[in-house]
Amino acid sequence: MRALRLALAASELAPYAKTGGLADVLLGLGRWLGRPERDGGGGHDVRLFLPFYERVAKTVSDARPLPNAQQIDVRFPNRTIRFGVREGRLPQSEVPVYFVDCPELYFREGIYTDDGDESLRFAMLSRAVLETCQRLQWAPDVVHCNDWHTGLLPLYLRTTYAWDRLFASTRTLMTIHNIGYQGYFPESHLDTLGLGDQRAHVHHGDLRDKQAFSFLKTGVLHATRLSTVSRTYAREIQTPELGMGMEDLLQTRSQDLVGIVNGVDYGDWDPATDPRIPHHYTADDPSGKAKMKAALLQRFELPHDPRAPVFGVVSRLTSQKGFELFRDAIPVFLQREDMRLCVLGSGESKHEQYFQWLRDTWPEKVGVYRGFQEDLAHWIEAGSDVFLMPSRFEPCGLNQMYSLRYGTPPIVRRTGGLADTVSPWDPATQEGTGFLFDEFSSQALAGTIDWTLRNWRDRRGWRRLVQNGMRQDFSWDRQAPEYVALYRSLLDRR
Ligand code: ADP
Repeated sequence: MRALRLALAASELAPYAKTGGLADVLLGLGRWLGRPERDGGGGHDVRLFLPFYERVAKTVSDARPLPNAQQIDVRFPNRTIRFGVREGRLPQSEVPVYFVDCPELYFREGIYTDDGDESLRFAMLSRAVLETCQRLQWAPDVVHCNDWHTGLLPLYLRTTYAWDRLFASTRTLMTIHNIGYQGYFPESHLDTLGLGDQRAHVHHGDLRDKQAFSFLKTGVLHATRLSTVSRTYAREIQTPELGMGMEDLLQTRSQDLVGIVNGVDYGDWDPATDPRIPHHYTADDPSGKAKMKAALLQRFELPHDPRAPVFGVVSRLTSQKGFELFRDAIPVFLQREDMRLCVLGSGESKHEQYFQWLRDTWPEKVGVYRGFQEDLAHWIEAGSDVFLMPSRFEPCGLNQMYSLRYGTPPIVRRTGGLADTVSPWDPATQEGTGFLFDEFSSQALAGTIDWTLRNWRDRRGWRRLVQNGMRQDFSWDRQAPEYVALYRSLLDRR
């Protein structure tokens, strides 16, 4: 079968600009798609698009101006914005990254802002993708849009760029990584974005009820097909409980919506080779894990005892992640058990303060690092015994898959991708990889922690549980071919 021409566009891409799993997915999927077939990849002509944020400019020194893609003027009704493309390569890969270099929009401190032109910043990203294709006379088979930031691209393709035969066979895929972020802006922005005459083609209900429109909903209306990042989440977002107001719209496109679990890049996340951790180990020789546990506790200045289980948390601290369940569940165990809790995260101050309170109350048992620190995330995966992820909802989740590979069985709520990637440990059959609970309540979490601790004391069973998890394979080698099949399914669609 012929290789595909694929444009992947997103607001995040590891290692350049990352706040969460989206960045890792774009890196892993992009790398696999572009790797030659003889090296086990997809062998496709894939090109990634990312804004040249200030933080990217500071870290990327070898991105060269792409010939034929400089000084491109994009006309919006009230202003014309000029950009150029700098070309880099994904690390350990030949896959090109096209950085959209437009200082007036992207040279700001954060990736996301509350500035008045936030809608323009990301509308521009969509247009820059299409304008760059025009300049290069490169006709993608599929433009893969990710989350609200690229939600307007399918509509632009059908309107502003409909005249261009270059895109006659181009199809779009809209992937929802997290439906909690829909990109709402006042209706008046439609005019500034050059979509004033497209009111009929954005979501009527929102214009009527909220005088606002959503980038994501617009993407869902106009993309050729839709996907999200696990099968369970694909079902859940069509329900009022988890659809966050998009359930009706998604139900109307149910036939076009598929769920594909994210892959893990084991090049970055494997305890046998991970350059970010000082001790390495495998399922057959786990001795390095005990050393990692000691090293982690030392880093957090907590006393070490091999018998005391270490619970790890690495997370954005938002209500999505379910940490309010800790309030009535965790203190009981910290009081009663000889255990440790190592937390890395940042986000809403009520959660940050709560973890700080835990740390102040049990300074011998709890360590907290507030902030974002890539290497500490790897240390916690490796040095903990149990990983805690009690999410209220979880589109896919990467951390539970990392923790499986690092021999750190996860405690998860049975939702979204957590339900699809963790199977319940059954000591009778010695099958399963972690611990799951259903009800979103502190009691349910506490009951599961209790059950986990009982299993922890069965050292032989625990070893088997750890091995089961470490032998799971969620690599892109397994997951990416599902995307390729989906891309191919688009080619004969209008
Ligand atoms: P989400 O995308 O909802 O944040 P995921 O589990 O899919 O959740 O992905 C989270 C990613 O972000 C993982 O790679 C995780 O290690 C990383 N991460 C989250 N918080 C932090 C932090 N405070 N420091 C370092 N890495 C973090």
